[in-house]
Amino acid sequence: MLINPLDDAVRLASVPGSPGVYILGCLERNLSAYLQQVRALNLIFALSRDNTVRPDQRVCVIGAGFAGLTAAVAAARRGCQVTVLEQDAEPFLGLRACTSRWLHPHIHEWPRENSMNPSAGLPFLDWQTGTASTVAEQVLSQFRVLAATRGIRLVTGVRVDHFARRADSPWEIGWNNHAPVAFDTVIVATGPGQEKRFEGAHIPGYWTDRPPQTLQSASHEVLVSGNGQSGLCDVLAHTLTAYRADRAAQACLGPETRALQNNLMFIEHVVQGASDENALETLNDAYPTLEVPTGVDAWLHTQVRPDTHVTLNSPTEHWLNPHTDILSRFLASRLFSMGVLHIRVGRLAQVREVAHRFHATFQADANNETVSGATATFDEVLIRHGCVSSLALSFPSLFERYAQMRREKPDHPVIPAWSADFYR
Ligand SMILES: Cc1cc2nc3c(=O)[nH]c(=O)nc-3n(C[C@H](O)[C@H](O)[C@H](O)COP(=O)(O)OP(=O)(O)OC[C@H]3O[C@@H](n4cnc5c(N)ncnc54)[C@H](O)[C@@H]3O)c2cc1C
Repeated sequence: MLINPLDDAVRLASVPGSPGVYILGCLERNLSAYLQQVRALNLIFALSRDNTVRPDQRVCVIGAGFAGLTAAVAAARRGCQVTVLEQDAEPFLGLRACTSRWLHPHIHEWPRENSMNPSAGLPFLDWQTGTASTVAEQVLSQFRVLAATRGIRLVTGVRVDHFARRADSPWEIGWNNHAPVAFDTVIVATGPGQEKRFEGAHIPGYWTDRPPQTLQSASHEVLVSGNGQSGLCDVLAHTLTAYRADRAAQACLGPETRALQNNLMFIEHVVQGASDENALETLNDAYPTLEVPTGVDAWLHTQVRPDTHVTLNSPTEHWLNPHTDILSRFLASRLFSMGVLHIRVGRLAQVREVAHRFHATFQADANNETVSGATATFDEVLIRHGCVSSLALSFPSLFERYAQMRREKPDHPVIPAWSADFYR
């Protein structure tokens, strides 16, 4: 069945039983800064088309990240009175301090066309590839100008303590013990949430600033636990010298690897729509048998850091995961084939920090009894086990109804669907 992406934008954001409340990108699996902005632009365009969002309406956006700020400007340009509520003292608190992570707007699409374009190409709050810090600054500086000209009210340090529907239809939202304010539309853009943490060890969060020189020391053993997107990013960042996804794609996966790229796309096509179990099996069967031009591994060899050995911990032996981008997955699979990356199967049960080293204990994977209770020691442990949802933490009742609806509705491709003249 062909689904109109604009119908999808509204349908997949609506909360059963809460008309006028929309969840923007909080429970998506396919997540990037750019995709969140596209989701925001699609949603406001779709709601304007339906006349749900219209001039002089009062719109409340909760969360001032990529999604929330973009939705706020889009609604303000439509003539709405927009208030943005942010819990932190300022937007992009973590990202603005992070000079060691590189963001690229389209690289998650590699090897599709346009994936190397360094410009997001959005109608506003546009940005060029750069460190997390410079990308956040680019977006925020534009937001500040637009907020001033469009009268967007940004309130920071907010704790929402009242969220209820009035009998005559608008929503009432209160924060920090102030009297509640009425809104016609509420957009909840609280992001993926807080990273899951482990007790017993100080482990740096994903956006903690860690310039390359701080990562290096003689014979550095690193454990990255978690085989999702951020786990693979950390594997590549610690295994390769000054790793940047776009540069790696350019250096070793140019046009001469077209056949390989087509094969990777074909595998992606096969796993799309498959159950998670089947997708895992397909990926883990197909990647090791790919025909890879020798130049790819040769280039990777030149980039491998001699001072660092990385172990990736995956809960199951099928460590190549469909919820990662093709490029990261492919590069990690090559490093594994080359014997550079080690895989440790089993659930990470405990991490203890003793004399500046970390003792990690792994529980058995259901299919592999041999790793039961095994312990290994590392100089550094990075835990990338996903997030505890902010939506669940802050708005449990909304979360319950929304998550139930989303369980029955698949993730959908995110493509810009607004009309060319709408955001001019
Ligand atoms: C570990 C990890 C690594 C990632 N790496 C990348 C990457 O390399 N590249 C990339 O493009 N994307 C990456 N992402 C995804 C990235 O986080 C998102 O693309 C982007 O930040 C999401 O934007 P957002 O606006 O939806 O959420 P966020 O940026 O998380 O913004 C949500 C905002 O809502 C606020 N908030 C939360 N709860 C409340 C509340 N109750 N009241 C008020 N405010 C609230 C938060 O403080 C925050 O400011 C990563 C995500 C994670 C978890």
